[in-house]
Amino acid sequence: MRCCNEGKPLPPDPFFAGEGLDRADHLRPDPDAIAALHHHEEARQLEWENGAPAIDEAGRLRWGAVDGAPAVLLGLNHGSPRFSALPDGDAPANAYAHFQLLSLLDPAEAPIFAAALSLANWHRRHRFCSVCGQPTDPNRGGWSRICGGCGAEHYPRVGGVVIMLAEHDGRLLLGRQPQYPAGRYSALAGFVEPGESIEAAVARELAEEAGVSVGQVRYLTSQPWPFPNSLMIGAWARADNDSLRIDTNELDDARWFSRDEVVAALANEPHASFQPPPRTAIARTLLERWVDGLK
Ligand SMILES: [Zn+2]
Repeated sequence: MRCCNEGKPLPPDPFFAGEGLDRADHLRPDPDAIAALHHHEEARQLEWENGAPAIDEAGRLRWGAVDGAPAVLLGLNHGSPRFSALPDGDAPANAYAHFQLLSLLDPAEAPIFAAALSLANWHRRHRFCSVCGQPTDPNRGGWSRICGGCGAEHYPRVGGVVIMLAEHDGRLLLGRQPQYPAGRYSALAGFVEPGESIEAAVARELAEEAGVSVGQVRYLTSQPWPFPNSLMIGAWARADNDSLRIDTNELDDARWFSRDEVVAALANEPHASFQPPPRTAIARTLLERWVDGLK
C-alpha cells in the first residue's frame, strides 16, 4: 500500500508492479559468476506448473533446489540467487484463463511472477534468429539470446499497450470486449504502434473503438502484463464530447458511467450498473484512482 494522503491510504499500485528481485544486471555478462551462484547455499529455482510459475496454498511462489545450470538468473533476493529453467510446453493461452490463478497470488510475489513468465514467454517465441533463421541460445543469464549462425544478439521485447479512461463532464467511458464475463465493463485499450507517442495512441484508440475525440491526455501509472510480454500504460483523457460510434468488431458495447456508478461497482454493490475489472487488472487501479481524485 502506498502512503498516504492526509492520513488516508492511497489506492494500491497496479498488480504486478513493484520492485521484485534485484535484477543484478552486472552479473549477467559473467558466466563464471553465474555458475558460482548455482552452487550458492541459498540459491533457489522457480517451479513451474501448466506453463506458469507455480503458486502454493498461501499464494507464494514455489521454489526448489537448483537443478543443474538453469538458463535464467532472475535476480537476487537479499543477496540469495533466484534462478529459473525454461519451462516445457506452451505459454498460457491468454490472461483470462489465468485470472483464477492470479487471484490466489500474493501481490508481493506478483512482480517476480510477471518477470519470470514474461521472460519465459519471450524465450518460447524466439528460438530462431529473426536475422538469418538459425537457432538461438540463451545468453547473459537468460536476458538475451545469441544466434549460432550470424552472431546477432536478441534482447527481450516489451509491447506497449495504452489503456485509458476517457472523461466527459464527470462521466467515464468504459467498454465491453466480447470475452468479458457477463456485466463487466473496463477501460478501453490498444497497442502502441511504431512511430506513435503514448498520447497519440490514446487518441487514436479512443477514436477507432468509440468514435471519441480527446484533447488533454495525462499519464497515470503502468503495469507489466506477462500475457505474453506487454507493458500496460495507464492514462486519462479529456473527451471533447460524449457522442459514441462503437466499433463492433472490437467492442460489444461502450457507455458513459457516472462517479456514483463507478463507486457502486468498485464496492460490489448488488445493484451496481456494471461489474468492475478484477484487482489484477490495471483498469481497476485506474478506476480507484479516478474515484480518489486522480492523486
Ligand atoms: Zn542469425
